[in-house]
Amino acid sequence: MAPTDTIPSGPDLAGGIPLADIPRGGTLAGHVDGAPVLLARFDDGVHAVGGTCSHYGGPLADGLVLDGEVHCPWHHACFSLRTGAALRAPAFAPLARWDVDIIDDTVFVRAPDTAPSPPAPTSPRRRRGHPGRIAIIGGGAAGFAAAERLRGLGFAGALSMLSADEAPPCDRPNLSKDYLAGTAPEDWIPLQAADFYDAHGIDLRLGCEVRAIDTASRHLLAADGARIAYDALLIATGAEPRLLTLPGFDRPNVFTLRSLADARAIVAACAHATSVALVGAGFIGLEAAGALRSRGLEVHVVAREAVPMARALGPDVGGFLLDLHRARGIVFHTDATVKDFDGRVVTLEDGTGIPADVVVVGVGVSPRTELVSGTGIAVRDGILVDACLRTAVPGILAAGDVARYPHGDGDLRIEHWVHAERQGQVAAANLLGDPEPFADVPFFWTHHQGVALRCSGVLQGWDRIRIDGEPSRRDFTARYYRGGRLVAAASVGRDLENLRLEAALAGERTFAFP
Ligand code: NAP
Repeated sequence: MAPTDTIPSGPDLAGGIPLADIPRGGTLAGHVDGAPVLLARFDDGVHAVGGTCSHYGGPLADGLVLDGEVHCPWHHACFSLRTGAALRAPAFAPLARWDVDIIDDTVFVRAPDTAPSPPAPTSPRRRRGHPGRIAIIGGGAAGFAAAERLRGLGFAGALSMLSADEAPPCDRPNLSKDYLAGTAPEDWIPLQAADFYDAHGIDLRLGCEVRAIDTASRHLLAADGARIAYDALLIATGAEPRLLTLPGFDRPNVFTLRSLADARAIVAACAHATSVALVGAGFIGLEAAGALRSRGLEVHVVAREAVPMARALGPDVGGFLLDLHRARGIVFHTDATVKDFDGRVVTLEDGTGIPADVVVVGVGVSPRTELVSGTGIAVRDGILVDACLRTAVPGILAAGDVARYPHGDGDLRIEHWVHAERQGQVAAANLLGDPEPFADVPFFWTHHQGVALRCSGVLQGWDRIRIDGEPSRRDFTARYYRGGRLVAAASVGRDLENLRLEAALAGERTFAFP
């Protein structure tokens, strides 16, 4: 992924700055040879790391510094300020480190630190207790993040990743945004270069559909007859788009959007289209509507609800998104349900006909759990796992969209990309036998007509919303409460505030908010 260009702020650090200018326990942003650099001052000295997030180029100078870590304001990736290590998704690559010289209380940063990165945080004693063979079913967010973290933790055994998808792990959030709009080049889409898997000893098998798990002999059986042995297994099968079983919705110009192949097929179909209908006004419906409108298509969205996304985000934030899309000429059919599709016209229950050369159905997803039937693993709208993402069968874990994990008095299954990646990272530690409860606050971002909405927390079951700021000025935070307790926050134009609220929700800090 190509980072976005940022104009470095702050002083030229090669020329030197007074040590006293860097707050103790805090950071100072500057630049060296045009590259943004973040200086951090702790009891163990002054450290310098690259100032641009390795995920999408977010400006870390505008992020949140907490306990020796910096959190990116755009997509909430988290890095160590001492080592530059990418600690939590969605970033995987570390930040560059820079040499720091302190001469007479003046701090100079002139050259990149070329010393090898610190060793992986795994001791030889722990390594001896690792399983010999780990298999991961699924090549999405959780599966990829688990494989990457396993090697990062020093797992040296056999590691296979079995993905039914024909494409290597890809940047799914982009598929309904820039990629669909035609503004993201192909090389942004793979999560890693093709040689990453070989270089890290990951046996990535694409187009490999696992049909059965033999828990007694610890083998997987693939559709092509292959038997894959494992000592520990991660199920990261994700979710699949729900289909409409109404007349005509099995036609070749009806699509769902989940995989890279899906996105390519929609782009190809739209090349000869003038109109498109989106059925469902959730994330796919709204993001895809925006992306396809920017291709010059006539775009219609059919929403069951009066205000799209109101159930999750409330009527004001949902209405804000609706206004953004309407202002760009997208036609909404609200309080509406579809009846049939004759190949050229979608007919609604009230008889309205919508011209549609292409139809994209985005009516939610179902967790892919069928693989575990008969294994003794419990399923209830997702695979039930404990706090360490372990199923009831020893050695088998689940993570990502497919996993339902304990939360408060009940449990949760979340369908956010970053949350799935972070579950994969925590699952990696647990696969190695280091019990690590999963405790991350859910986070997602979504794009609407050039406006980024960032949401932290659990947007379910809230009973009150307080909005600070002004949606019409694209500057607000909506706080969601349940029984008087903050459970989530959605922000536009207030990225640092959203990071602080995420930290507050995690119980890491309380901040004085205005
Ligand atoms: P979604 O966000 O759950 O929204 C589904 C929408 O379809 C809802 O508005 C729902 O309305 C409606 N719907 C359900 N059944 C319907 C029916 N029979 N007819 C008409 N409308 C119907 O799911 P999605 O948009 O399909 O997205 C799929 C997955 O991708 C989700 O897991 C989502 O989180 C993820 N995704 C996330 C992002 C992001 O985070 N930025 C972007 C793209 C995709 P009701 O509310 O009335 O049920």
